[in-house]
Amino acid sequence: MNVLIYGSGQLAQMMYLSAVPLGIKVFAVNVADHTVVDPISKIKLDMSIEQAIDLADVLSVEFEHVPEDLLEQAQSSGKLYPSMEAILTGADRVREKNVLEKLQIGNSKHQIITHVDQIDEAVAQLGEKLILKASRDGYDGYGQWRLSNKQALPELKQQLAELDLQTVPLIAEQMVPFDRELSLLGVRSLQGDIAFYPLAENLHYQGQLHVSVAPAPAIDSQLTEQAQSAFTKLANEFDYVGVLAVEFFQVGDQLLVNEIAPRVHNSGHWSMQGADTSQFENHMRAITGLPLGNTQANGKCAMINIIGCDDYSTDLLSINNCHLHLYGKSVRAKRKMGHINLTGQTYPELAEVMTTLAKYLPIEHFPKLLDEADKLA
Ligand code: ATP
Ligand code: MG
Ligand code: MG
Repeated sequence: MNVLIYGSGQLAQMMYLSAVPLGIKVFAVNVADHTVVDPISKIKLDMSIEQAIDLADVLSVEFEHVPEDLLEQAQSSGKLYPSMEAILTGADRVREKNVLEKLQIGNSKHQIITHVDQIDEAVAQLGEKLILKASRDGYDGYGQWRLSNKQALPELKQQLAELDLQTVPLIAEQMVPFDRELSLLGVRSLQGDIAFYPLAENLHYQGQLHVSVAPAPAIDSQLTEQAQSAFTKLANEFDYVGVLAVEFFQVGDQLLVNEIAPRVHNSGHWSMQGADTSQFENHMRAITGLPLGNTQANGKCAMINIIGCDDYSTDLLSINNCHLHLYGKSVRAKRKMGHINLTGQTYPELAEVMTTLAKYLPIEHFPKLLDEADKLA
């Protein structure tokens, strides 16, 4: 089997690594320059995208922001999983909100903004604490603006005046006073079977994921049921095939969907050590028509993103139950360079490994690590 992935970053790399034992070969499209590359070395292969599509049994994506002409070409081959519609819904917040409303899945109150003056109306309707999100191409908190009070409104409108909101509208969302953030990853097979990973708790800093803990502590069956029900509605709506991620805000005992990602997801990286079958392997299994693997967690796991730094000692590998996954990138502010997976039998045991790890890291780049270790201890 050959699989072609659109996008050639770390997610393609980790899909490749999980596919090798299954006898599946993976190559990738660099969507910036339309070349076909090896997902590990990133070396260009002597092949056009058309040739790669012919050679591939299955096509998939590592991220949702694939240019639409490429997606159309992929969809028309009849080999793309998940479908173009599912991918576009993850790529466009207007479509995403429409689907959530249609399926009656709880999400944050919002309005669509196609002209800056509509922000006044949004403040009147939703209140002065707002988060404005570009409907397309945002990730890691990029393409977002926050309003914390009415006084800051004129300046914000001035800032946004240069955007072409007719072409790329904004979503004005009510700032949700959430208790915490959770995500549910699941995988749906070609036959429509669904397997769920346990909910993960996600800690963000400046709009970017820093730490995930899975299974999330203090989850009752009612929360799991809400999350799985939202997931199932979405996955069935798209006749989805592959791994799908749904991000939630927990407010009391209610879950609101923040956004969906039609792909493997950073908050599922823990599954490489922490689950029987990783999200990457399960995605490859699903899209190639293989049986799904067990999604159960082995003990407790924490995933620590390495963001914007490379000045740590690889002596951290001497810690038991500590695994490093590097993406082979040069360092840049806010760039995800890799992640570290930690496991323990219990939360206090996991907390101990986290505290030990902190001694090996430039802690200013890991603002959530010790806080979270303290909470789990
Ligand atoms: P990702 O990298 O997850 O794709 P993104 O750029 O698409 O990120 P969101 O997930 O929409 O952005 O938002 C990033 C983070 O900002 C959220 O995880 C959350 O911490 C915060 N946030 C987003 N929307 C809201 C909201 N309505 N209320 C409160 N916080 C929010
Ligand atoms: Mg997103
Ligand atoms: Mg998000």
